[in-house]
Amino acid sequence: MKSRARQCRFRFYEELNEFLEPKIRKSEFVHEFDGTPTVKDRIESLGVPHTEVDLILVDGESAGFDHRLGGGERVSVYPVFERLDIAPVTRLRARPLRRPRFIIDVHLGRLAAYLRLLGFDCLYRNDLGDAEIIDRARAEHRIILTRDTGLLKDGRVTHGAYIHDAEPVHQVREVVDRFQLEALFKPWSRCLKCNGLIEAVDPDTFEDDEVPSDVRARFTAFSRCRECRRIYWPGSHFDRLRARLDKIGIVLPETLEVPGNSPC
Ligand SMILES: [Zn+2]
Repeated sequence: MKSRARQCRFRFYEELNEFLEPKIRKSEFVHEFDGTPTVKDRIESLGVPHTEVDLILVDGESAGFDHRLGGGERVSVYPVFERLDIAPVTRLRARPLRRPRFIIDVHLGRLAAYLRLLGFDCLYRNDLGDAEIIDRARAEHRIILTRDTGLLKDGRVTHGAYIHDAEPVHQVREVVDRFQLEALFKPWSRCLKCNGLIEAVDPDTFEDDEVPSDVRARFTAFSRCRECRRIYWPGSHFDRLRARLDKIGIVLPETLEVPGNSPC
């Protein structure tokens, strides 16, 4: 005997609607299912990766991902949204770690460079496969940043975020807001190319061909990456990056601060 499909009503809030079919966005809709699936299973079947969900209300009560639906419920699903006042209910996301570390999906190399510029540990390689990204995220407690919803729907992913914007500098704003990174910036403490830590270096120790002579004449503060040995100074590249971040409200110091002496 074929069992009749069960029904419940869903409503998704804020940017979670971007993952849904257009006809069910921003409104309550009827969803049919068989058996007693978990609410996580149904949310992901509708297109929303579990990593994007911070709060689920089932008939007004907060519920975990493993809550099973039996039919007749009214389900409200909210995104990770720090300003939402939902204090009395259980949020699904643990509070962010004191200093989050990231692993960044292929194609998001410029986002990785900006986050390194702000001092965040960002593992990025353009040849990592999904399985390797998940393995390293789990082993090294890194948050996955990606524009691939399929990657985030993998059940092994515990910490991840979907990046909505296509523009790298706006992606930075998204990540800073979502993980509340503003107080954790350590500008110019990490190499943009290799993620290594950089440290102040005495120009007298440079090899002859390491830094152009006019640059040596114009600047006094230099830093060197401990890993790849690349040298940084507050020149035009630095100013361009500062200007782009300034447009999204992230203000970096005008001079290259010596890592280790910064206040945070
Ligand atoms: Zn480096």
